[in-house]
Amino acid sequence: MNLFNKLIALTLPFVPKPIVGYFSRHYIAGDQLEDAVKLVRELNSQGMMATLDVLGEEVVEKEQSLKAVDLYKSTLQAIQQEKLDANISVKPTHMGLKIDKEFCFENIKGLVSEAAKINNFVRIDMEDATTTDDTIDIYLRLKKDYDNVGTVLQSYLRRTIDDINQLIPHKANLRYCKGIYNEKREIAYKDKTLINDNFNYGLEKLLNHDCYVGIATHDEKLVWYALKLIDQLNLKPDQYEFQMLLGVDHELRRVIVNSGHRLRVYVPFGTEWFGYSTRRLKENPAIAGHIIGGLLNRIFRLKQ
Ligand SMILES: Cc1cc2nc3c(=O)[nH]c(=O)nc-3n(C[C@H](O)[C@H](O)[C@H](O)COP(=O)(O)OP(=O)(O)OC[C@H]3O[C@@H](n4cnc5c(N)ncnc54)[C@H](O)[C@@H]3O)c2cc1C
Repeated sequence: MNLFNKLIALTLPFVPKPIVGYFSRHYIAGDQLEDAVKLVRELNSQGMMATLDVLGEEVVEKEQSLKAVDLYKSTLQAIQQEKLDANISVKPTHMGLKIDKEFCFENIKGLVSEAAKINNFVRIDMEDATTTDDTIDIYLRLKKDYDNVGTVLQSYLRRTIDDINQLIPHKANLRYCKGIYNEKREIAYKDKTLINDNFNYGLEKLLNHDCYVGIATHDEKLVWYALKLIDQLNLKPDQYEFQMLLGVDHELRRVIVNSGHRLRVYVPFGTEWFGYSTRRLKENPAIAGHIIGGLLNRIFRLKQ
C-alpha cells in the first residue's frame, strides 16, 4: 500500500459522508430496489448470478429490523416477478441480533420461509466475532426445518476449522471467505499467508465432504487452488459456486464465468450504505486513491 493510500485508509473515519458516498458507488447498486433489479438483470445477461443485500447493520430499534424484513420480502417478490437468477443475503445484526436473539431468529425464519415458497435461498452473512456463535446457532436451528438456508465462515478466525468440523455432518451450505472485520490476534490469524492456508485447508475439507461452498474471494491464488480441488474431486459445476463483490475485479469475474464455472455477485443496495462502504474502502484504499488522484489531476489540468 503506498503512502497516499495508507493515509486515505487512516483518515477514512473522519472523511465526510458525501465523499465516502462518492467513492462507494463502485460497490453499491443504488438506493432503491429498482436499481438493484436493473443491475441483476445486467449481471444475469452476462451469465452471472447475484445475491441481494439490503444495506444496514447493528440496528438499535426493532422497527428498523422490521422495515428491513419488509424490504427483503419485496426483494424476493421482485426476484420472482422479474425471473432473476438471484437470492438474498442478510446480516444478523440488521435482523436485530444485538437487540434480542429470538427476535432476530424469527425475522430470519420469516424470510427463509418466504424464500422457500418461491424456491429461493437465504444466506446469513457472518459479521464480527461477537456474533459467530449466535449466527451458527441460528443457522443450525433453521436448517432443521429448511434446506434453503446457508451461512458464512471466515478463514481468518482460529476457530474456523473446528466450526467446519462441526458443520460437515450437517452437510452445511457455506460461503467461505477470508473475513473482513478487525479481530484481535488472540482469536484471528493476522498473517496473510496463514489466512490463505487456512482458507485452502478449510475449503478442501468442505468440498471433500460434499458441502456446497460459495467460494468467496478475489484472490487469484485462492481461485487457482479452488480450481485445482474442483478438478481433483471431479466436481460438477452445480456442486459449488464462486462469489465476488460488486465492483471488484471484473476481469477475474469474466475469466471464471468464461471457463464454465458458476459465479454469484454480491449486490448491496439501499440507503444505509455508510458502514459497508467504509469497510470496502478500508480494504482497498487504492480505489479512493485512484479517484482522488484522478480528481486532482483534472482540477490541476483545468487550472492550467
Ligand atoms: C461474495 C462475498 C461475500 C462476502 N461476505 C462476507 C461475510 O459475510 N463476512 C465477512 O467477514 N466477509 C465477507 N466478505 C469479505 C471477505 O471476507 C474479504 O474481506 C474480501 O473478499 C477480500 O478478501 P479476498 O479473498 O478478495 O482477498 P484479498 O487478498 O483481500 O484481495 C484479493 C484481490 O482483490 C482486490 N480486492 C479485494 N477487496 C477489494 C475491494 N473492496 N475493492 C477493490 N479491490 C479489492 C485486492 O486489491 C486484491 O488484489 C465477502 C466477500 C465476498 C467476495
